[in-house]
Amino acid sequence: MRALIVDSPGLSRIAEREIPSPGSGQTLVRVIACGLCGTDYKIFSGKTHAEYPIIPGHEITGIVEESEEIEKGQMVVIDPNRPCGRCRFCKSGRPHFCEHLQATGVTESGGFSEYVLVWNTQVYPVKNVPPERAVFAEPLSCILNGLRRIKGEFFERVLILGAGSIGMIFGLMLKRILPGAEIVLWDVDETRAEYVSKNFVLKVEPPKGSYDLTVECSGSVEGFKTCFDSSAFGGVLLQFGVVDKDKKVGVSPYDVYRKELRIQGTYLNPFTMGEAVRIIESGELLFEKLVTDRLDLEGVRDYLQNNRKALVKAVFWNH
Ligand SMILES: [Zn+2]
Ligand SMILES: [Zn+2]
Repeated sequence: MRALIVDSPGLSRIAEREIPSPGSGQTLVRVIACGLCGTDYKIFSGKTHAEYPIIPGHEITGIVEESEEIEKGQMVVIDPNRPCGRCRFCKSGRPHFCEHLQATGVTESGGFSEYVLVWNTQVYPVKNVPPERAVFAEPLSCILNGLRRIKGEFFERVLILGAGSIGMIFGLMLKRILPGAEIVLWDVDETRAEYVSKNFVLKVEPPKGSYDLTVECSGSVEGFKTCFDSSAFGGVLLQFGVVDKDKKVGVSPYDVYRKELRIQGTYLNPFTMGEAVRIIESGELLFEKLVTDRLDLEGVRDYLQNNRKALVKAVFWNH
């Protein structure tokens, strides 16, 4: 099988690899599609945690090729995260903080490949859905975790920073959850902002005034600062974007105190894959409209190596 291998930060190649054979409790999946995510860029450049050499790609949709447990030919999506189940975080219901967390496409071979080997516990069957929609199950599950962190609260004015697929999905989901709220998206990339405002029913405009909820989806220090500075009294800042791990930003403790600001992180997708699959299957939101760039393996390598960004969402399409 052909796969994109990152040997070390900045150094990659497309190479022939042997198709892995599943052991007990494992499933071999033929990849149909795998989304490119900010994390892949950071793995490529060494700005986040990963184990090299690595085949990246963790937003995987495919067809079961070989498995003792799951029917051959079944379309599935993969939860990339595989907690140990034994550490204190796993035992207290917080498996995303697992001390021995393994993740497909981060510590184990991922989806920028013709086949991927996963554990049965990671496999979620999906029915009657086009693969270009199913490929959003994993990012959606992470967004659902973020929404759980602010569950039950009402926000009148919402700012989402970063109008890529994550920002868009947050916008669509928050529209469902907060009827009547004013929700605006913003992106410093004007071509993208313009495309999004033309093609989707979400308001795209630069931040003005203050917001009760800000959602940082750009993964940049500037994005965080804009969210912080745009927070209203009693505001909540939801940090979703992955900022380079060595970057710092100065904030005013006085503002945090005086405005009762809450900075809320959201990490991975504990217990939300099932819900994500149900939303994808319901057909209520046509996530496939977010796919603007379809790439082969060479294309994926080119995007990651040259930091080329999709208009909205790029996916590796294996055909
Ligand atoms: Zn991701
Ligand atoms: Zn654990």
